[in-house]
Amino acid sequence: MKICVLPGDGIGPEITAEAVRVLETLRGDGLNVELEYGLIGGCATDADGTPYPAATQKLAREADAVLLGAVGGPKWDNLARELRPERGLLGIRKDLGLFANLRPAILYPELANASTLKPEVVSGLDILIVRELTGDIYFGQPRGIEERDTEWGRQKVGWNTMIYAEEEIRRIGKVAFEAARKRGKKLCSVDKMNVLETTQLWRDIMTEIAKDYPDVELSHMLVDNAAMQLVRAPKQFDVMVTGNMFGDILSDEASMLTGSIGMLPSASLDANNKGLYEPSHGSAPDIAGKGIANPLATILSAAMLLRYSGNDESNAVRIENAVKKVLAQGYRTGDIYEPGTHKVGTREMSDAIIAAL
Ligand code: NAD
Repeated sequence: MKICVLPGDGIGPEITAEAVRVLETLRGDGLNVELEYGLIGGCATDADGTPYPAATQKLAREADAVLLGAVGGPKWDNLARELRPERGLLGIRKDLGLFANLRPAILYPELANASTLKPEVVSGLDILIVRELTGDIYFGQPRGIEERDTEWGRQKVGWNTMIYAEEEIRRIGKVAFEAARKRGKKLCSVDKMNVLETTQLWRDIMTEIAKDYPDVELSHMLVDNAAMQLVRAPKQFDVMVTGNMFGDILSDEASMLTGSIGMLPSASLDANNKGLYEPSHGSAPDIAGKGIANPLATILSAAMLLRYSGNDESNAVRIENAVKKVLAQGYRTGDIYEPGTHKVGTREMSDAIIAAL
């Protein structure tokens, strides 16, 4: 498998280096991966005048999967919009057609105190949110702000279009059913069908796809109830699938249940399971270069890479079990440290993972 590694900015290079060491350890055990490096984000703008250079685009297109650190930082905040680091991220997602965003929210029992919710509500939480990433009201046309005659007189109105084509719903539905099949075999589809026609279609298509997945139990939930249930009893969920806007909100809500931003990986997939894998957090400029960043979100992103793009469940589980083991052994980076545990830096944390592997 060809992996394009894009370390990016801030803590990106530090945490990606550790995920690469983990992959190299597995390579020593027979994993067949080839790594190639490119620039993205602020460092790419510095070197090539654009946050997503042609050379990176070529590498990313030719690779089977992309492992990305993070982009951005104060150094580039005042640049023109098209030169900003985030443009690199939007560019690569669009270029590779990554329409399916997978965000697990896992709370390891050892970290239950990191959550703002009661430990008994969240301890052992293991949810996967599958969010459609390239459609919905965020991209629908027409959209705009203009002056119109209204019942309140002539004034500005703003409008957007929530729109999904059947095929767009079907392809994200299939990703979600496949993911559920690899996990607890329960899928909850989230919509607002009592008010929005777009999401009535969403529900109809999900129900239709379910016939091809008799081993997966499909349920439906309205988005307002889903938001409530996520804080009331989040452990009732296994996989949730929803559109771009609802997924944006629910995936942030779910990730914050865990309270530990340095622990959460993510995947964005195309129709052929080629994917971009990155931690859910940003480039953390406040701690960059200090050797204290938590590398686990990126290491767990490498596990997702092996699972979804490499179809290598066994090495994915090996990495995830190594993470559970080091947490049980008491190793903690600063962001998840509690008195009584063993505080370590970035390198020591991944040394422990490699020892556990
Ligand atoms: P952030 O996630 O970078 O940092 C938020 C807080 O969490 C900081 O205090 C940081 O030190 C801490 N943190 C984050 N990751 C950590 C880790 N692995 N270990 C320990 N602590 C960690 O969010 P922010 O501060 O809002 O953004 C900083 C920069 O990152 C901005 O330029 C932003 O645009 C960019 N950003 C990039 C991405 C991405 O690349 N996908 C996502 C979000 C933000």
